[in-house]
Amino acid sequence: MKVAVKEDTTAFAKEIQQKCGQDVLTCYQCRKCTMGCPMAFKMKMKVNELMRAIQLGLREEVLSSDTMWWCVSCETCATRCPQDIEIVEVMDVLREMAFKEGYYIPVESIEAFHKVFLRSVEAYGRLYEMGFAMDLNLQLKDPLKDADLGPVMFAKGKLKLLPHKVKDLKSVKKLFENVRKLEESRV
Ligand code: SF4
Ligand code: SF4
Repeated sequence: MKVAVKEDTTAFAKEIQQKCGQDVLTCYQCRKCTMGCPMAFKMKMKVNELMRAIQLGLREEVLSSDTMWWCVSCETCATRCPQDIEIVEVMDVLREMAFKEGYYIPVESIEAFHKVFLRSVEAYGRLYEMGFAMDLNLQLKDPLKDADLGPVMFAKGKLKLLPHKVKDLKSVKKLFENVRKLEESRV
């Protein structure tokens, strides 16, 4: 007689715990995270629903969801969670997994934002706001987006015409180099 072996639905949650130390299995669906999340209105799958989906081992649904891409890492959820789950760390891991496993990023501007932001930090050691805004608009094929705000911000000294580099730019570049090497060694 064949004995059916039940699939371990907790494997996905354990994989996440192994990567970031957060035990999603302890979530008991109080919904305090979702109630305080400033980005919940954008998320198709709310934060507590994401936690439940992880507990149920719904890997596809979780990694293809838009939840972690809307998260702005404000930490409100973690502060409210009675189970002390550092949800931001879970979000980071999910973004990394989804990206590496080739899942489509449902929020188009997010990928461009990350690339352009990091390009600016690597070049100057800090964000060069004006260059960042122009570069991002080009990436999103909307070169004049928010162009009317430029002169106002410029007049108020919120935008600088030229970039300012940090003193120790060498160390920043070294950091990027090391991360790239680390990434290559993991492939
Ligand atoms: S850290 Fe992310 S998921 Fe948590 S409340 Fe802020 S935006 Fe929402
Ligand atoms: S606040 Fe914590 S325990 Fe409550 S639903 Fe969110 S993750 Fe689960």
